[in-house]
Amino acid sequence: MKLNVCWMYHDIMDLYGDKGNMMVLEKRCKDRGIDFLLDTCTIGEEKDLSTYDLLFIGGGADKEQHMLIDDLLSRKDNIKKAMDSNTFILLICGGYQLFGQYYIDADNNKIDCLKFFDYYTENCEDKKRCIGNIAINCKLEDQEFMVIGFENHGGQTQNVKHPFGQVLAGHGNNFEEKTEGFYNGQVLGTYMHGPLLPKNPKVADFIIYKSIQKHNPEFQLSDLLPLDDSLENKAKNQMLQRLQVL
Ligand code: GLN
Repeated sequence: MKLNVCWMYHDIMDLYGDKGNMMVLEKRCKDRGIDFLLDTCTIGEEKDLSTYDLLFIGGGADKEQHMLIDDLLSRKDNIKKAMDSNTFILLICGGYQLFGQYYIDADNNKIDCLKFFDYYTENCEDKKRCIGNIAINCKLEDQEFMVIGFENHGGQTQNVKHPFGQVLAGHGNNFEEKTEGFYNGQVLGTYMHGPLLPKNPKVADFIIYKSIQKHNPEFQLSDLLPLDDSLENKAKNQMLQRLQVL
């Protein structure tokens, strides 16, 4: 069994420890005897993205989003091919925004995005930002559980038809709606840095399972050997208590 991952724009999209997401996937795969192959793809590099089980893009400031957008748009057909062939996609913050319709940055510059989904992101009038720890309630297939993270974004994402979760503390997609991220069964976009997966082993395992399914359609979440997550769960409960959610 193996997991073949491509971290796109690894050299510029890596905020608040997003690379920890890759480290955690590697550790949780290795502990179970699953080969973990991590490749990267940056601006100008030729790669067939549809060959991977999982694509990952981390967060980035407006500057980095402008730097990569032409390259990302040039890969639109290839990313569509990846989606059509069941590659799972994990997008954090700046990466998440770029899969929607458009992003208007803090200086009112518009980035036309990939337009795979209906959501769009605009800045906040007085340059306010959503910053701080966040807790949400999410439902991934038949599991319902809380997820914690850290957010820092000016972008206000609207018109999300399928949010990743409901906000219990913090902001999420925007200041008003109390929804967080996007999840459609194959693409998971979220504002949660922190990083997401070390803080939330259940999300990490869910992504491993969905990604493995690309080449092993029979594979189930219950096929993943259980690991000892007691420290992670203790840290998570501490944060949930601090946020007065528990
Ligand atoms: N530049 C984007 C914003 O401020 C994304 C920031 C991020 O990835 N943390 O909304």
